[in-house]
Amino acid sequence: MAAGEHEDRHRAGAAAGGETQGYAELGELNFLEEGETRRALLRLSYWLLGVSAALGAALLLAGVFDVPGELAVLREATGLSFGLAISAWGALLLVASVVALPVHELIHGACFKLMGGGRAKVAYGFSAGMFYAGCPGVTFTRAAYVVVLLAPASLLSVATLAGGAALRLPLLGYAIFAFHLAGCAGDLYATWRIHKTPACTHCEDTACGIKLLGE
Ligand SMILES: [Zn+2]
Repeated sequence: MAAGEHEDRHRAGAAAGGETQGYAELGELNFLEEGETRRALLRLSYWLLGVSAALGAALLLAGVFDVPGELAVLREATGLSFGLAISAWGALLLVASVVALPVHELIHGACFKLMGGGRAKVAYGFSAGMFYAGCPGVTFTRAAYVVVLLAPASLLSVATLAGGAALRLPLLGYAIFAFHLAGCAGDLYATWRIHKTPACTHCEDTACGIKLLGE
């Protein structure tokens, strides 16, 4: 699965009109339709990957990351040869990056429950090459919805970076962090759109994205 494809159903779209549950509709973000929104998400994913790669290279040059040292830690722990330790490093990156995807959605789901109280029935699924957690039809305050959007990116960024450091595999932790963050483009883009819509007081989760609502 390409980085950026696990963006769940918090994604962008065109402006809307009309009214929902007494709120004025200020815009609708549709993550599933092809269009400017999905192109913007892809651009943001690549941009995040590029910035992470540049920062990683700078940290490597600065000696913060020590590749032979990291491979030595793996060899020490497993008894593998140098070549197999490189393969194990790559396998750990792949496995952790894949495992992070459902964990990311479970964090969204837990936050939906926390913020929505009894109203929130979370639907989990996998479609169009991505996992998702959704709460269609439920309206949240702007602040609560931003918490739902940003919690997985925040918690998993701290967990991957801190976990890598604790295991003396900081480059591995950083690489998992970078791939995961690139996949959070949808959440970050939606947060930016909410931020750029000051009149938005509430957000409704929909089957394909978000409605931005105002009082
Ligand atoms: Zn997400």
